[in-house]
Amino acid sequence: MPVQSDAPERHARPASFSAMLAVLAMLAGFVLSLSSLPIQAAAPTRLHVLATTFPVYLFTRNLTQGHPHVRVDLLVPAQSGCPHDFAPSPHDLQKLVQAQVLVMNGLGLENFLTAALKKSNANITIIDSSAGIPPLPLPRGMRPASHAGHKHEAVNPHLFAGPRQAAAMVCNIASGLARVDPEGAAAYHAAAETYSARLLAVGRRLASVGAGARRKGIVLQHDALAYLAHDAGLDVVDVIQESEDIQPSA
Ligand SMILES: [Zn+2]
Repeated sequence: MPVQSDAPERHARPASFSAMLAVLAMLAGFVLSLSSLPIQAAAPTRLHVLATTFPVYLFTRNLTQGHPHVRVDLLVPAQSGCPHDFAPSPHDLQKLVQAQVLVMNGLGLENFLTAALKKSNANITIIDSSAGIPPLPLPRGMRPASHAGHKHEAVNPHLFAGPRQAAAMVCNIASGLARVDPEGAAAYHAAAETYSARLLAVGRRLASVGAGARRKGIVLQHDALAYLAHDAGLDVVDVIQESEDIQPSA
């Protein structure tokens, strides 16, 4: 649901900026509307799916609506934001043990899981929603550092924030679900077609708004929005917050 304000506009903004805000509100509203999907009717669970992050959880919930035998759980709580420094609790590991399928964002966003997966559930089927989607490089100053024996990917993992990339992730998840649950294959693909068409329509709207912007430079709070900016045809000049637990410097 788009957030509406009763407060009058205090400052006149350039039309393109207002239009950009409208698209962002529309995208946010679209995502929020997905989060209020009805709880599926109780039915014996035959396929237990675990989604690592909130965006891939929403994508998967959309695709599995109308399949009451499919249960979808979320690993990283929505309020945790990006799981760059997430440490799974014993309860989280229990979820990993119980699931048959793990839907991941990919591109290194779930590096925290590598060791836990081997220990908890080495046989789990993994659906990497990022497969085959061309990634953007990380912004300057955020290139990977190796530490504690592991290395982060050199690419920006926040694909879900770009409507076009999100549409491709949805199709990847549908293909993965179709492989593990062939009976539902046609329905998963049909749902992915409808859903990705809506996301692509948002992407086209975003591109037309960006095309009308007089100035293309944009500073991001977190690199999570780089794909959104890219789809809008904007140039990311800089990123303020290099890491979620580091306060921005002067
Ligand atoms: Zn992030």
